[in-house]
Amino acid sequence: MTEIAHYIDGARVAGTSGRSQPVTDPATGEAEKTVALASREEVETAITSAHAAWAKWSKTPPLRRARILDRFKMILWERGDQLAEAISAEHGKTHDDALGEVTRGLEVVEFAVGAPHLLKGEITENVGTAVDSHSLRQPLGVVAGITPFNFPAMVPMWMFPVALACGNTFILKPSERDPSASLLIAEWLTEAGLPDGVFNVVQGDKEAVDTLLTHPEVKAISFVGSTPIAKYIYETGTRNGKRVQALGGAKNHMVILPDADLDMAANALMGAAYGSAGERCMAISVAVPVTDQVADALIERLVPKIEALKVGPAADRASEMGPVVTRAAQEKILGLIDKGEAEGAKIVVDGRGFTPPQGYENGFFVGPTLIDGVRPDMSVWKEEIFGPVLSIVRRKDYAEAVDLIHAHDYANGVAVFTRDGDAARTFAHDIEVGMVGVNVPIPVPMAFHSFGGWKQSLFGDHHMHGPEGVRFYTRLKTITTRWPSGVRAAAEFVMPTMG
Ligand code: NAD
Repeated sequence: MTEIAHYIDGARVAGTSGRSQPVTDPATGEAEKTVALASREEVETAITSAHAAWAKWSKTPPLRRARILDRFKMILWERGDQLAEAISAEHGKTHDDALGEVTRGLEVVEFAVGAPHLLKGEITENVGTAVDSHSLRQPLGVVAGITPFNFPAMVPMWMFPVALACGNTFILKPSERDPSASLLIAEWLTEAGLPDGVFNVVQGDKEAVDTLLTHPEVKAISFVGSTPIAKYIYETGTRNGKRVQALGGAKNHMVILPDADLDMAANALMGAAYGSAGERCMAISVAVPVTDQVADALIERLVPKIEALKVGPAADRASEMGPVVTRAAQEKILGLIDKGEAEGAKIVVDGRGFTPPQGYENGFFVGPTLIDGVRPDMSVWKEEIFGPVLSIVRRKDYAEAVDLIHAHDYANGVAVFTRDGDAARTFAHDIEVGMVGVNVPIPVPMAFHSFGGWKQSLFGDHHMHGPEGVRFYTRLKTITTRWPSGVRAAAEFVMPTMG
């Protein structure tokens, strides 16, 4: 059985903690690999390596740093298929979906290649007589990223390209459920010319995370994962004096107003609810049709599409939806569907009895599920299901739809489908959610904007990548300068003003 290693100081390093855990292929249910779980000492080795590398990397001209990332980008373009295969084998998502993830990550690398422009400071001449001031942004030092299973390539790439371009060194702690993508990324960065120690990977669990959260040499933590852990990361990291951005869970609603193009809305819901088996933080898990007529017409369109969805392993390139990530995830999702039924919701399309294709009987499959008559007091609405389950919460009017969304603790993404520009504008302006789509079901901001939700979906002040990413990974310094020709004759003891 192969063990997935760490990557420290420019090379794969086998685990020495004596702890590891199985990595399963969700399509077959078989575990042919294990992943090393780092001890505190192993994480400290990575931090020492990253700290040593920082001295030189932070002083490397930004353009030279950007050129290395540019070479990495070309490798990603050429070997996207290889990375996608590694993702599918451990995550379970279809090949095309995994390729899409690689492309969205690659876009952040493209953004980071332009970082020299973003690092430009500001200057003011003559803030006082013969005195000039300039502001500049400097890197923080060693920074760390702790990432979830659902995007093992894209979410790390929301973080490290910007962090490295800004002159930091980076330690990635990937999800232990699909860790292989991180090693390909690390090796390709080295191949692109990144100096040893600038990018490191420590595989692991809570022990590795807690070491990163408490070590004084780690200056900032970027986290993406579930809300309880995001809160823990934020509280522990900030208590230890670190800058923290911690993105949490989601429950994303799509409001369908009576004037919407219902065919467009139904097609959008199919991809947004069932793509990646619903394991996306921007998946739509609640449809909110306004009026019963809209709900009935929408369900009529959705049911045949859901029944025709091709569910199967990524190895079958015709599959449109794969398994969920683990047996535990499968059981949690099936349990929540049971609970929804017990609480009085109507299971319109039932994914519980799904029969996997031949040869994949032990895979973690859940069939696409549609639940109608969901109410805000039900667990299927309150909890993040993170599976291929779409709930329908019927509302009488626009105001009721908005109230429903505002009643939820999560506020990551939201969408409205309508032809009414006025309604769309009012919705986009008033809704208390971080990312809004108008006739766009999964409004994931492009790399040159920033990604992040509100309320319990994000702890911290900065969203990820884009200009917010540059601000997160740098700190501002302002330098005020006077040369001898501007020096006043006598010592002054009053507060300096612009004389
Ligand atoms: P998770 O919270 O279980 O794990 C995320 C990371 O935290 C992993 O690296 C894991 O090893 C680590 N971790 C887990 N338990 C820990 C503990 N007790 N102490 C310290 N570290 C711990 O999340 P997941 O199941 O991998 O990912 C799915 C979740 O991520 C969903 O809730 C989803 O909404 C969320 N997510 C959010 C966004 C976003 O942008 N807001 C994006 C992707 C995923």
